Amino acid sequence: MGLTFVHNTLGQRVLFGAGKAAEHLTAEVKRLTAQKIMVIASARERPEAEKITAGIKVKLIHDDVAPHVPLHKADTARNAAIRNGIDLLVSVGGGSAIGLAKAIALTTGLPIIALPTTYAGSEATNVWGLTDASHKTTGVDDRVLPLTVIYDAELTLSLPKELSIASGLNALAHCIDSIWAPRTDPINQALALGGIRALTDGLPAISSNPNDLTGREQAQYGAYLSAVAFASAGSGMHHKICHILGGRWNLPHAQTHAVVLPHVLAFNAPAINDAAARIAAALGTGNALEGLNTLRDTLDGPTSLKDLGFAEENIAEAVQLILPVIPASNPRPVTRENLTALITAAQAGTSPAHL
Ligand code: NAD
Repeated sequence: MGLTFVHNTLGQRVLFGAGKAAEHLTAEVKRLTAQKIMVIASARERPEAEKITAGIKVKLIHDDVAPHVPLHKADTARNAAIRNGIDLLVSVGGGSAIGLAKAIALTTGLPIIALPTTYAGSEATNVWGLTDASHKTTGVDDRVLPLTVIYDAELTLSLPKELSIASGLNALAHCIDSIWAPRTDPINQALALGGIRALTDGLPAISSNPNDLTGREQAQYGAYLSAVAFASAGSGMHHKICHILGGRWNLPHAQTHAVVLPHVLAFNAPAINDAAARIAAALGTGNALEGLNTLRDTLDGPTSLKDLGFAEENIAEAVQLILPVIPASNPRPVTRENLTALITAAQAGTSPAHL
């Protein structure tokens, strides 16, 4: 069989090393000869950000960070960057902090150095998101891709266990959705499978001991691979579902992914035999869905949208919003009936099974 595909690789520098965030940041700022630095970190991450940036000259620390990047907050941050003549953005935090830095980069073209503190993976994508009146808009623009990512597993030690697990399952969702996403190819699939292996090693280690730095490093490495795969393959059925649920009902990002993922895998697996076998092997089992369900049970991950605040009466509206955005390339045809069954199972938290 021939091997024919088109693959784009995004250009980015990655500095990896536990305990090295401050050292790597100082060196990178010097390399870029930046003079006026704006640090973006939520109030929660601000003390950590102040420690990491102690060795560089900071013009401004901006801590008005909120989930899903509300447009008015993006505008305030953009104006602050312009008013202060900023020439480099440094984000310390999860997807929300990086998202705000991306919103500034989108209109100003300013470069970003990202220091992630979760496993959401936004730091390795050229995707931005903005929310206005409960409506989330996303787009793709290379200007928002951080120039450099500095990974330091010590920055994730403070992430509570439950959030670490949900965020790690969010990264796993990037990997698994990449397998059938619209631009899936052998390169991003290889990255995705590598990501599954690293997360399958790292997450149980974190679950049994949240201070396990080796587990944290594996999860962080897996999160990076997952995000590179996702950025290349694009949003598949899983991300389309979570994007609508998260934006319309303001559900927590990582937990929503953790709940929905096994249901989408259960739905698509029968239509992707070879790929499902490779996912299973990466999970260290003989069956992809059983492997994922076992991993989620081991990790005690979230299991129902109901527990996240999504009510049964919203299912019909969710199906109506999601159905038109499911990629035509999804391996199994999606209908109102089978999508309703999937969302109903995810809402109630019934065991994910082939529909
Ligand atoms: P988040 O950044 O909102 O963080 C979740 C919570 O964890 C926050 O309260 C935060 O303060 C806290 N937190 C973060 N790091 C911590 C740490 N080390 N210790 C203790 N607490 C910590 O959540 P997230 O899941 O990282 O990101 C979600 C957002 O990112 C969503 O808006 C999502 O759409 C976006 N996202 C975008 C992309 C992309 O490619 N553009 C990819 C993934 C996620």
